[in-house]
Amino acid sequence: MKQISSKVFQISLGSVNVFLIVDDGLTLIDTGMKGSADKIFSAIKKGGKDPGNIKRIILTHAHPDHSGSAAEISRRLNIPVFAHYIDAALIEKGVGVREPTYLSPGIINWLIYNIFIKRSDRNIEPVLVEKKLSDHDILPIAGGIQVIHTPGHSAGHVALLIKEEGVLIAADLCANFVGLALSTVYEDKDLGVKSLGKAAEFKFDKALFGHGNPLEKDASQQLKNFYNKLIAE
Ligand SMILES: [Zn+2]
Ligand SMILES: [Zn+2]
Repeated sequence: MKQISSKVFQISLGSVNVFLIVDDGLTLIDTGMKGSADKIFSAIKKGGKDPGNIKRIILTHAHPDHSGSAAEISRRLNIPVFAHYIDAALIEKGVGVREPTYLSPGIINWLIYNIFIKRSDRNIEPVLVEKKLSDHDILPIAGGIQVIHTPGHSAGHVALLIKEEGVLIAADLCANFVGLALSTVYEDKDLGVKSLGKAAEFKFDKALFGHGNPLEKDASQQLKNFYNKLIAE
């Protein structure tokens, strides 16, 4: 686990990151691919926390690399799953990908798509989404987590702003491997770029991504600059 702020941690599962908020009880944000539960639990233990204290799972969107282990973790710990209501409809049916999706340009995206995405299972184990989230919701965790509906990559994608920590969990709003870049796939790229602009209007110092490295300083300004570059293209 990498500590990002006093209450926010990132757990890297290799091709995807998940996040942990340590408040009274733990909140797990995203769950990795199917079969990631033990890997997540051992990372939490290694970080000195008890995975038995996870009180809820928040999914940023339905994609199988984020929601793939939600059913298993929810069942093992008997805890509720939260997700935006639009992607919740897919998650409850066990569908991980809303088709069609469009590949972003560039060799890195082509490689990611052909190595990881093309042959991967688009289905997930279905799980009940007990709490359906909407734009502007504020969850009473870590002083208030604001739900920012950021459609485009997926229609029910959310970014999560942990105001008191100055952290945005941007998930697949964009990626950050060697600098900020578009996500590999979009349902609607233009809408995804618009959502990036929407999220960048909020104030936060750090941003965390499903794929790639955290931005640890001036993150809202960096996202704003990236957004301005994209709309100028
Ligand atoms: Zn995704
Ligand atoms: Zn992803």
